[in-house]
Amino acid sequence: METKLRQADGPAVALAAELLKGGGIVAIPTETVYGIAASALDGAAVKKIFEAKGRPQDNPLIVHIDQLEMLEGLVGSVPERAKKLAEAFWPGPLTMILPRGPRVAAEVCAGLDTVAVRMPSHPVARAVITACGLPLAAPSANLSGSPSPTTAHYVMEDMRGRLPLVLDGGECQVGVESTVVSLAGPQAVLLRPGYITQEQLQEVLGEKVLLSGAIL
Ligand code: AMP
Ligand code: MG
Repeated sequence: METKLRQADGPAVALAAELLKGGGIVAIPTETVYGIAASALDGAAVKKIFEAKGRPQDNPLIVHIDQLEMLEGLVGSVPERAKKLAEAFWPGPLTMILPRGPRVAAEVCAGLDTVAVRMPSHPVARAVITACGLPLAAPSANLSGSPSPTTAHYVMEDMRGRLPLVLDGGECQVGVESTVVSLAGPQAVLLRPGYITQEQLQEVLGEKVLLSGAIL
């Protein structure tokens, strides 16, 4: 497969949206790292992500949205804590684990009854989601086990020949993965440390955020 590397201008974003609507995969920049995106509503499309990355299918993916309305059907409910954190940190590098809704493809959640969601702030990621109108599952755009890429050049090194299109949106500003916090249980639990700290989460929630025994 030929892999096109395109500056993320209007026509390239439109092309990415067409590929995604057709069940394809595309590498896109986000403010954390570059991701390989596919429609989170399309199990066959999501499988292509796992194949391109060589990622074990039991490792669930983060779903990227561009507006809160997109949570409808993706999640089963939006707990009060999630509303507070969304207000404070979205769009931005915070991923929330919420009860799973009926529209999200089973492949995204790796069989769990929860789903990970995030609203990115990167203008290109947002433009692509808006253009295709789909929530996008998007893990980092590297081969499984390799470092997460922060430039389109690094994406090409791992992914050349494995997907049709890489959008170049420059270097990722945050450069580390999103913080992952679970709000699906009775207490907030920090599952993966990241740019947004436990202290920041606690300050907004006004309560203790537990540290997971098994930090990812
Ligand atoms: P990434 O490799 O950046 O796409 O990160 C995805 C990470 O988010 C995974 O490694 C999971 O550990 C975590 N994650 C995604 N979905 C869930 C979920 N439903 N429950 C717990 N953790 C999740
Ligand atoms: Mg990764």
